[in-house]
Amino acid sequence: MKIGVLALQGAFREHLDTLRAIGVEGVRVREPADLADGSGLILPGGESTTMRQLIERWGLHEPILDLADAGKPIFGTCAGMIVLAVEIAGGEPPILPLLDVTVERNAFGRQLDSFEAELDVPILGRTPVHGVFIRAPIIERTGPDVDILARLDDGRIVAVRQRNIVATAFHPELAGETRFHRLVATMAAEHDDPGEGSGRRPHPTRRAASARRERSGS
Ligand code: GLN
Repeated sequence: MKIGVLALQGAFREHLDTLRAIGVEGVRVREPADLADGSGLILPGGESTTMRQLIERWGLHEPILDLADAGKPIFGTCAGMIVLAVEIAGGEPPILPLLDVTVERNAFGRQLDSFEAELDVPILGRTPVHGVFIRAPIIERTGPDVDILARLDDGRIVAVRQRNIVATAFHPELAGETRFHRLVATMAAEHDDPGEGSGRRPHPTRRAASARRERSGS
């Protein structure tokens, strides 16, 4: 299985390194053809205004929307989350409106340009996630289909999931945190080979029972 990493701008190398660390092959995505191999896509941090321009210039807008439509997972970190939001506070038009949230860019102001925080992310287990925030956005509003995965101590939302779309205001890939990438890889694997829970795979105990019946001739 391969996962694409949008490699137009920003912190994409760290995502490729994180994928490598969990044994998943990362593919640099610079043009539509690069998307073909990937079972999912990561949108890195960087500068969302620049990403907006480069996504348009390289003709990636429709192909990425199609990939999301097909149900493949997309994971956006920081600027990548801004790229996915249906609404950007202040009236900028959305870029790839796939995630029903309103985000505010650079929400922590100049005083708190960057900071790190331990975050409780229950779906990733008990050990907190070390989040690195760099000129980070905040999620101001979430739609009814959006699951909140993590908040800061003051209650502000910093990680969400809506079906196949996952987004964090922070950078897990800069802190050696691999669990978000594992989650996305699992989602990609489930998309590629839906089996669990669908009844498509033979049930091991049922299989054993029918083999017993065959042996006993009943
Ligand atoms: N401040 C950037 C933006 O608004 C995001 C910063 C980041 O990705 N680390 O696009």
